[in-house]
Amino acid sequence: MVNILDYTLDELKIWMKDNEESAFRAKQVFEWIYKGQYDFDLMKNISSSTKNKLKKFFYIGFPTIIETLESKEDKTRKLLLRLNDDNIVECVIMSYKHGNSVCVSTQVGCRMGCKFCASTIDGMIRNLTAGEILSQIILCQNVLGDRISNIVLMGSGEPLDNYDNVMKFLELVNSDYGLNIGQRHITLSTCGIVPKIYEMADKEMQITLAISLHATTDEIRKQIMPIANKYDIAQILDACKYYIEKTSRRITFEYSLVKGVNDSKEDAKSLGALLKNMLCHVNLIPVNEIKENSFKKSSKNDIANFVSILKYYGIEATVRREMGSDINAACGQLRRSYIQSKKQD
Ligand code: SAH
Repeated sequence: MVNILDYTLDELKIWMKDNEESAFRAKQVFEWIYKGQYDFDLMKNISSSTKNKLKKFFYIGFPTIIETLESKEDKTRKLLLRLNDDNIVECVIMSYKHGNSVCVSTQVGCRMGCKFCASTIDGMIRNLTAGEILSQIILCQNVLGDRISNIVLMGSGEPLDNYDNVMKFLELVNSDYGLNIGQRHITLSTCGIVPKIYEMADKEMQITLAISLHATTDEIRKQIMPIANKYDIAQILDACKYYIEKTSRRITFEYSLVKGVNDSKEDAKSLGALLKNMLCHVNLIPVNEIKENSFKKSSKNDIANFVSILKYYGIEATVRREMGSDINAACGQLRRSYIQSKKQD
């Protein structure tokens, strides 16, 4: 059986033709699904013979919600989801004055091995399909009863390590028959898989690219991010410049501040020197402390100094608000604690 949420309209049209149905039925089926009708039998304008063919081949596959956690500090909600094969992923809804944002996972686990990240501790189990990424957003929309306006691909997984499915997801979520979420409202975060950044740039989409930099020298980066052994900072920045050239989009650099590792005034100055004159913005993330490692957050004072040094270099920097810290909202934390608790049962 095939999850119909993995199909684009064009693919469904071809399926209809191959199954001796009119291509326009494809649009009708998607209209039902994206309106919230997840039962083929209840799609009124579809004949029963078409329904039978659809039911033989497709299912409308959503993950089931195991748990919804709502932060008491802010309106952040975290959903723990069970996929059809019993794997577990999580996604986060953040509600702001200007709209609702969802942070989705792109893989079950992750194989990038970043030392501070909870998603990667047990490695990568599998890629999510385009439909599985999409269904996280539809579910969030249903939970909220409100439109999702922004998407960040910053949950578990490395999106560019699941390139084809992620690109298909971007097509699906952007399509006018689907959720119709504009590319400018979507941010893809990567640890820096250089060839894929070039490939994405050549598509000339309007997606915001976010780079997890987290260090200003290859030496320190290698200590916290194994991917740094494959691609150095200079290669990443060249790829970013190419992305800017192709898309005119401002790049976001994510920089998780870890006490004593990458948060000194010298670090701020070298970050300033690296990014000076680039069309970019720095998002500083006070490291989210997890029990599996000993990384500590930088002090408020060091964070403030870091921001002002970057300003001196003409680089706009914001400190990411820590949302949902009372509900394990950092990447992979909730899934991990759930799996651990099941092991103890
Ligand atoms: N694989 C993608 C998406 C990861 S999550 C990437 O590497 O960009 C989004 C951001 O959160 C990344 O910048 C990631 O490095 C960062 N991150 C992960 N765990 C963190 C933690 N415990 N504290 C602070 N930032 C963290």
